[in-house]
Amino acid sequence: MAKRKRNQATASPQPPRPTSSAAITQVPASCPHCQATDLTELRVVADRALVGRTPAGDRYDRVTWSDQRCTGCGASVRVRTYHHAEAH
Ligand SMILES: [Zn+2]
Repeated sequence: MAKRKRNQATASPQPPRPTSSAAITQVPASCPHCQATDLTELRVVADRALVGRTPAGDRYDRVTWSDQRCTGCGASVRVRTYHHAEAH
């Protein structure tokens, strides 16, 4: 008879995600000055529950505004990011 091992769940302390929504569209997707797509988020300015559709037809239910720094030319870009809660 095999000994039953106690199932010590590998309790890796992962912080819970604040929201389970996925970013679907970012506007602008690239730097308006040099067209580089390499933008680094500096800070989130606003985060609102808004429902609508992107020009591509994807539903969104949350919009985040953030300041991002272009790694190409160093400009600060105000970016809107549309999110949609992950459906089951
Ligand atoms: Zn740039």
